[in-house]
Amino acid sequence: MKKRVLIIGSSNMDFVCNTERLPAAGETITTNESYMLVPGGKGGNTAVAAARLGADCVFCAKLGNDSYGKSLYDFYKNEGIDVRHLKCSREYPTGLASIIVEGNGDNRIIVYPGANMHILAEDVEAAVITYPGAAIMQLEINYERVVEAVQHCNERDIPVVIDAGPASKELDLSRLGHLEIFSPNETETEIFTGIRPYAYESCIKAAIAIRNIVNTKYVVLKLGSKGCFIYDGKYANFSEAFKVNAVDTTAAGDSFTAALTLEYLRNGKNILEAARYANAVGAMVASKPGAAPSIPTHEEVLRFIEEKENEK
Ligand code: ADP
Repeated sequence: MKKRVLIIGSSNMDFVCNTERLPAAGETITTNESYMLVPGGKGGNTAVAAARLGADCVFCAKLGNDSYGKSLYDFYKNEGIDVRHLKCSREYPTGLASIIVEGNGDNRIIVYPGANMHILAEDVEAAVITYPGAAIMQLEINYERVVEAVQHCNERDIPVVIDAGPASKELDLSRLGHLEIFSPNETETEIFTGIRPYAYESCIKAAIAIRNIVNTKYVVLKLGSKGCFIYDGKYANFSEAFKVNAVDTTAAGDSFTAALTLEYLRNGKNILEAARYANAVGAMVASKPGAAPSIPTHEEVLRFIEEKENEK
């Protein structure tokens, strides 16, 4: 039977506009480059990844009563996601990320969170009552809802995974209840601990600093092309990345967390095996352009791991 994974998080429409150069203040430029409207937001990316990797995925998010909200709803439904906990706000529009990509690949992003900040306490409680095998939250929605969701999960012995982005020094992580996994990337680790994780020593220092603030069984640091680092308070392990030609890491971290959580549930909570599977998913996503289009299915991941094994 499929493992049920609940994601409580953000959903945005991403407006991606390509331009050779940025306009100066007061200037209008016309670009012949393309633009795209694509589903985004850390919660949405994670939900799509969990569903493609084979979870019975329940997504709790808040959309606006507008055309972006409608097309995101249809998109998640077509992905096979359980959309019964996607709520519609009458007051606030769907979250929008406006992304400008320059010719040299640099991007500038403005996020308007809109409805994402208005998930209600009762929406969260109702979603937890679907009794998932695990719940994943990020920090891109109202923090009070994240704190409450962890509390509801703790009361029902549902393991909680926190993908620690976007990070902010203002968030008091000690308010979170008991977590199974807390997983920041390099930048988020530095914001929360003041330590940039590079090699073993800085990783262990950062992981210890996190465990001093957050009540978590595992800390899993996402380290881009270096893979990830796992610490449980006693044992520390690097799990090496798969070698790929990285072209766009958008959604690599979100997909990594979905993969880590799902595989952890599927393989009897073996964190090292789950980390290896998650590294494969992150590498696959990084090696293709775009967010959702680059997220693989479970079968594709197994094929990728086998091919990499045969290359050795
Ligand atoms: P985020 O997307 O949150 O910044 P990372 O960049 O650390 O997170 O990526 C998440 C995971 O994706 C990494 O831990 C790794 O497993 C995989 N990954 C990311 N970039 C690469 C890369 N260049 N080569 C191989 N794997 C990668």
